[in-house]
Amino acid sequence: MWNLHIDRALSVHLCYPLARGRGGGRRLRIPILMYHSIREGNEGRNPYYETNTSPQVFAQQMQFLHENGYRVLSLVETVEILAGNGNCEKSVAITFDDGYADFYSHAYPLLREHGFTATVFVVTGLLKTQRTQFNGKDCLTLSEVRKLHSQGVNIGSHTVSHPELKQMGREEVESELSVSKQTLEDALGAPVKSFSYPFAFPEVDHRFVDTLTNLLEKCGYENGVSTILGTAQPRHNPRFLPRLPINSWDDPRFFRAKLEGGYDWLHRIQIASKILRSKAS
Ligand SMILES: [Zn+2]
Repeated sequence: MWNLHIDRALSVHLCYPLARGRGGGRRLRIPILMYHSIREGNEGRNPYYETNTSPQVFAQQMQFLHENGYRVLSLVETVEILAGNGNCEKSVAITFDDGYADFYSHAYPLLREHGFTATVFVVTGLLKTQRTQFNGKDCLTLSEVRKLHSQGVNIGSHTVSHPELKQMGREEVESELSVSKQTLEDALGAPVKSFSYPFAFPEVDHRFVDTLTNLLEKCGYENGVSTILGTAQPRHNPRFLPRLPINSWDDPRFFRAKLEGGYDWLHRIQIASKILRSKAS
């Protein structure tokens, strides 16, 4: 849908300077970064949907956060600050979807070096003692997830089987939420409070969003993230917080623009396009 050069150029040269000019940097907003896999190579898809971040680019991005004095928050802290309890200045949260093994080998060592925490969202049907694969990539094993958790990495649910929840009945959705949570709690011996919605979040379907909110509450999830594009603000549903997709294409200027609210404009265009498509179908 979007050519990288257009959304990067508009963000870096127009929307980011405008957001700064309006004092956007001082508004209560917290960027939540959405990573998937930290590995070389790209998938050959539209840069917006690329899910690989090269280890070198990831190192550069963590260095940027470090040099610019960013404080890395857990999602619990993020939600508390958005509710008005604390200072959000230079704050960021870091998340990883799908539970790939390269988090353990390439991301975690760098995060630890900087003293940064992160939340990793695991597909529990793939959480085994032996190595499993998802999308052709190795997943974290049970012992790696336990070790990461014991060293301060937050672990959240990304469902049991990574389905399109919107296509499922209420009981099946509830099972995906509750079984994955229970599996992780049994594995870690600790409560699991965070959820990440797989695939594009259907935010214009208000009935589905209400149902899912109720089910997440019922299952005991206190916070969560989605693919809604943007920086998190107090008005957002704490169980579907928006995020900023990050990958190898995010050079330092684009990364900074995203962190400081200069990429949020794209969300309005995405919404308009979704509404138009839903009316056309
Ligand atoms: Zn996923």
